[in-house]
Amino acid sequence: MAASLLALSEEELERRVVAAGGRPFHARVIGEQVLGAGVLDYARMTALPRSLRGRLAAELPILASVERAAVRAADGTTRLLLWFPDADGGGASVETVHIPPRPRSRAERAGNGATLCVSTQVGCPVACPFCASGRAGLRRNLTAGEITEQFVRGRALGPLSRAVVMGIGEPFLNLPALLAALERVRAPFGLGTRKVTVSTVGFPERLRSLAPTRPPFQLAISLHTPFDAQRDELVPAMRGTPIEEVLTAGDDWFERTGREVTYEMVLLAGVTDTADHASTLARRLGGRRCSVNLIPFNAVEDSGFRRPAPAAVEAFRGRLTDAGLVATVRHSRGAESDAACGQLRLRSEA
Ligand code: SAH
Repeated sequence: MAASLLALSEEELERRVVAAGGRPFHARVIGEQVLGAGVLDYARMTALPRSLRGRLAAELPILASVERAAVRAADGTTRLLLWFPDADGGGASVETVHIPPRPRSRAERAGNGATLCVSTQVGCPVACPFCASGRAGLRRNLTAGEITEQFVRGRALGPLSRAVVMGIGEPFLNLPALLAALERVRAPFGLGTRKVTVSTVGFPERLRSLAPTRPPFQLAISLHTPFDAQRDELVPAMRGTPIEEVLTAGDDWFERTGREVTYEMVLLAGVTDTADHASTLARRLGGRRCSVNLIPFNAVEDSGFRRPAPAAVEAFRGRLTDAGLVATVRHSRGAESDAACGQLRLRSEA
């Protein structure tokens, strides 16, 4: 017996519905209600026979997860800590963050919905020393149903306009499940290619084999530094992969998909925010079709890293734009409630 509706394939759902006394087409109705309309209660699916509603309510929960925490910050950002049961009787929690447009921003005035930040793994094997998510290594991959469920839970907090796959985990190490989930939410959530960004540390071979399939998302690559020896330390799982190979795979991605890559740079005071970093980065990216997103470090306990002052961030950005690059700064949101992703989970398991 599968644990929840979102864990089932279309065929499996149809079998369960028929076994519960329904007709095959009722499975499609349920799918439209849950994914399309966000109805999370069988009692409200009045297009279904009453007896079927009762049977399903007793037998097949729509959602698998338990909401362990929902922390709402003053700026409207809500961090969900979702606990998913494991097959073996245990459980695992991940974070999903619902980020409405900033108050009084252009996006808010335009009536845009929130950006949802979703996780792909429980923990992370990459172990970047500045990141909370990889502190305890990888527990397991999330399933396609569990990734889909984050979208469903997130939308229940308010309409979504965009999604970023930048929560806990390395998406390119769980690609089949991620792609299946994105496929399921694309039409009903209106989250097409331009509305979804997937961030990865950049596995060149995986990027090269995926690019020709033109997957339905924008690509962001966590570069963090233009120096190979330092990247080996900051992104340990990529040790031995020269930055040039990552950049070449990014160029190939652009050629194959027609979509520019965004290179992410975590700015760690005195470590990655120096003038030398900016000028070397500008030189390495010069002439490439791409942009840069600067992420001022969000404090993580005992990491030993510090967040640069706003002036240092602006100076870094200025050096890049002076060199002709497109560079933006990511604002951290929900700061007073552990802005760095993975911290809620770390605390909950401490
Ligand atoms: N595993 C993917 C997704 C990670 S989260 C990846 O590495 O790309 C998205 C971005 O946030 C990554 O660039 C990641 O390096 C960065 N990040 C992680 N911890 C951070 C922190 N404490 N402060 C700022 N950025 C952080």
